[in-house]
Amino acid sequence: MSLGAPVPALLSGRRQAWTNWAGNQRATPLVAVPESEDEVARLLGAARDGGLTVKPVGAGHSFTDVAVTDGVQVRLDRIAGVVAVVQPDESGCGEVTVRAGTTIRDLANGLLGRGLALPNLGDIDRQTIAGALGTGTHGTGLGLTGLAAGVRRLRIALPDGRVVEASPDQEPELFQAARISLGALGIMTEVTLAVVPAFLLHAWETPEPLEPLLATIGSEAEGHDHLEFYWFPHTDRVQVKRNDRVVAGTPRRPVPRWRARLDDDLLSNRLFERTNRLAVARPSLTPRINRVAARALSARDYVDHAHRVFVSERAVRFVESEWALPRAALVDVMADLRAWVERSGELLPFPVEVRVAAADDVWLSTAYGRESCYVAVHQYHRLDHRRYFAAFEEIALAHGGRPHWGKLHTRDAEFFEGAYPRFADFRRVRDAVDPDRVMANAYTRRVLGD
Ligand SMILES: Cc1cc2nc3c(=O)[nH]c(=O)nc-3n(C[C@H](O)[C@H](O)[C@H](O)COP(=O)(O)OP(=O)(O)OC[C@H]3O[C@@H](n4cnc5c(N)ncnc54)[C@H](O)[C@@H]3O)c2cc1C
Repeated sequence: MSLGAPVPALLSGRRQAWTNWAGNQRATPLVAVPESEDEVARLLGAARDGGLTVKPVGAGHSFTDVAVTDGVQVRLDRIAGVVAVVQPDESGCGEVTVRAGTTIRDLANGLLGRGLALPNLGDIDRQTIAGALGTGTHGTGLGLTGLAAGVRRLRIALPDGRVVEASPDQEPELFQAARISLGALGIMTEVTLAVVPAFLLHAWETPEPLEPLLATIGSEAEGHDHLEFYWFPHTDRVQVKRNDRVVAGTPRRPVPRWRARLDDDLLSNRLFERTNRLAVARPSLTPRINRVAARALSARDYVDHAHRVFVSERAVRFVESEWALPRAALVDVMADLRAWVERSGELLPFPVEVRVAAADDVWLSTAYGRESCYVAVHQYHRLDHRRYFAAFEEIALAHGGRPHWGKLHTRDAEFFEGAYPRFADFRRVRDAVDPDRVMANAYTRRVLGD
């Protein structure tokens, strides 16, 4: 362990400044970097005995204070790598066992080398597996769930120092709760996920008007394996991404290198940073900037490894609030949001992102028990997001929304009690494994209760 030899040394360890990716959460925790599951377990026991709180952290890509602690921050960087792979059977389903601190990027690349893939991903791959599971990370696709629903088994070190293996057959309640746990139950050390044979996606990205897309959004979502769109506020324009699996034997046709550099580096990052800075300096130009930006992204049609299609570089810093809503609410939510943008006078240089997902059965999943659409609002990090996000929260609440656990919201335990049918069960499991609240922080106290 990086803090030196015996675990109790933690009690007098040095503090280090920490900030999340967006820069809106900070802390100065005691940092521990264990090298084995055994060290994780001993550390938890010692922290509990010493009256310290503990929080595992992944890549720090959550916008909420879900991973923040001024107690002991446990980094899983050294508990990483693929442990075992089971090749897919005739049904096409295999599994991979991976250590908790592995990044999605390393896992996806490691799987590709073995002819395998995760069935779906979000739009970046910098998170650790355990961190991504911790807040219910998802991608898009009406036939596909978020990452947590693909968990088959996991190993978790509990605050009493025990390491437990949990699956649907073994410690089933702990398994249900630990798949999305906000780091509130213990420290996951290993996880086994469902994988599929590696696949190519045909990506078709086009700028379009918003209204016709919304008029056919039901069939669009049903007709494509992965559908998402970005609406540019103050315009009626969207950039739509339709991604579909290709039949076996289809050759790869990736975006040429120069074009990828132009779109992903120059337009989506460097130029986008400049337009955002311009919007800060001259807010009244924002609608015009958005109109130009919406037209600058031209159509792209290519075929590539799924992982490369899903994931983009995100160099422009922002904060985000994302809500899961019943799928049928999408058109009304968009109408309410557009009306608010028009009447509020708020000037918004960042696009609004819309995605879809299948229902799942993970207790704290935002898609628990219902087919969902996700609507995400973003704000450039140098601009104030509060009025915008508060207004969107009101809209989302009026349509039965549940906030992404890793993205900004103001809800508390009383709200979640009504929003999640298995919330009381989650709290019961938490009471059983962490009665002393070793794993608590300000966020878990707010959203789960004391
Ligand atoms: C640019 C950007 C793009 C994003 N895109 C998407 C997207 O497409 N889809 C989406 O759903 N979300 C997205 N997110 C949100 C992100 O996926 C989640 O916030 C995710 O939880 C971050 O993972 P992390 O590794 O950074 O974890 P952290 O933010 O560091 O931690 C998240 C939670 O996991 C817990 N945790 C970490 N390790 C462990 C462990 N070993 N055991 C138990 N708990 C643990 C932490 O305690 C904390 O509660 C995005 C965020 C950013 C900044």
